[in-house]
Amino acid sequence: MSRRTEDCTLLWFRRDLRLGDHPALAAAAERAGRCLAVFVLDDRLLAPAGAARRIFLIRSLRALREQLAGRLLILAGDPVTVLPSLAAEVGAGSVHISADCGPYGRQRDDDVRAALASAEVELVATGSPYAVAPGRVRKQDGEPFRVFTPFYRAWQEHGWRAPARTDESTVDWIDPATVAESAPLPAEPDPKESTAGLTLPPGSTASSELALPEPGESAARSVWQDFRDQALADYPVDRDRPDLPGSSRLSGYLHWGALHPRTLLADLAGDQPGAEAFRRELAWREFHADVLWHRPETARHNYDRRFDTVEYDSGPAADTAFAAWCSGLTGYPVVDAGLRQLLAEGWMHNRIRMVVASFLVKDLHLPWWRGARHFMRHLVDGDLASNQLNWQWVAGCGTDAAPYFRIFNPITQSQKFDPSGDYIRRYVPELRALTGRAVHQPWTLPDGPPAGYPLPIVEHAEERKEALRRYDAIKR
Ligand SMILES: Cc1cc2nc3c(=O)[nH]c(=O)nc-3n(C[C@H](O)[C@H](O)[C@H](O)COP(=O)(O)OP(=O)(O)OC[C@H]3O[C@@H](n4cnc5c(N)ncnc54)[C@H](O)[C@@H]3O)c2cc1C
Repeated sequence: MSRRTEDCTLLWFRRDLRLGDHPALAAAAERAGRCLAVFVLDDRLLAPAGAARRIFLIRSLRALREQLAGRLLILAGDPVTVLPSLAAEVGAGSVHISADCGPYGRQRDDDVRAALASAEVELVATGSPYAVAPGRVRKQDGEPFRVFTPFYRAWQEHGWRAPARTDESTVDWIDPATVAESAPLPAEPDPKESTAGLTLPPGSTASSELALPEPGESAARSVWQDFRDQALADYPVDRDRPDLPGSSRLSGYLHWGALHPRTLLADLAGDQPGAEAFRRELAWREFHADVLWHRPETARHNYDRRFDTVEYDSGPAADTAFAAWCSGLTGYPVVDAGLRQLLAEGWMHNRIRMVVASFLVKDLHLPWWRGARHFMRHLVDGDLASNQLNWQWVAGCGTDAAPYFRIFNPITQSQKFDPSGDYIRRYVPELRALTGRAVHQPWTLPDGPPAGYPLPIVEHAEERKEALRRYDAIKR
């Protein structure tokens, strides 16, 4: 029997798992005082995610449900069928969302909009996961930007709205128990599932436990406040130091919308030291989303199609090299530290993401999408736009890409950005006993690397020449 309520709306949460600064919640409140909060577990979105992202999502949903005093309905299935029947069940006149800007999300929302329209229910998109919705900032001739710095200038000139004033009291939340049976939150997957098939190094924590951030909006706000008060001033320099807590570690929260970037931008008003550098990094996130919005095919293909003919390695030897890279057993300590940090924490420092990505593409001569897929599987912040386009940036085939001849040297990067070697020692236990600079190149020790740690699987200087040869071939 249908238990119809009058004058109510649905708020369909997706990548906006918060109640503060929530434009779609504000829009729902304008339509009706009563609102049912719903999240749909959609297999198509969950499939590429490994244990870390799934666990973080499950915990974030639990935190949101607690914030709502249990009034969050969890459903499983295809949103195209689930939402129209739920809207009919509660008698909702509209379903409210924050716009999704990725290729799958846009198509899904069009399909849900059409399915709801046939029942005369409106799908209302208000706001997005970005300060400025992708597609809005354009060149004077209306064309999208292809280069970051002019985009950044135009993005700042365009500006953004003030944060929406919303919280748990913005609407009268409908108790889901009066409407439908909630699906249970899935059990947290075993982290070992994601690393099955990898040869994990001795002492690795990745197979048994994951050190993930505390989930939820209030945890996200305190991470932000601590960073703003204690680390922002030194961010322009320390953000490149993987051995220091120099960056915000907000990416997982921003990805799942526990915080909106506009909340951060509003907090950065004024000229406090570090604010400009931090705004610029947030703008990279917006730039990549804008590029993917205009060119959705770049999730799978080179932005610069001239690179389609680059020669990559394949076959058993390439697969063995890829497996060593995934496991953090390349013999290059900084590369291995980064890849093991990814497996242990579902996160990797930005400087090290660049170093390991360059190593995969330019030292191992493997296609960027193999590494991008591994990142997407393991990153808590795994985000199609930021991930695929940063990979392309490193590979040289993306927009505003690093020139193809800029090849990160894993030894000098390590010496420069992890000067004491503490980052390496934290994640590579086999090298913990090494003192001094030998930790950056343990193969130079008189007896070679300590037992259990491999010799380098390739020689950087040689592979650099080989990468340049292959890139030169496509230039010609
Ligand atoms: C190969 C590669 C893959 C990446 N994949 C992802 C990904 O899947 N998801 C993701 O969120 N970021 C990705 N990044 C960007 C960046 O590494 C992370 O956003 C950053 O390390 C997150 O740590 P943080 O929150 O401490 O960053 P901070 O330095 O504190 O920056 C603040 C925020 O700005 C944004 N940001 C910073 N740098 C970038 C950037 N280069 N591109 C886009 N946004 C940025 C993030 O949202 C970040 O949380 C990737 C970078 C590379 C080189």
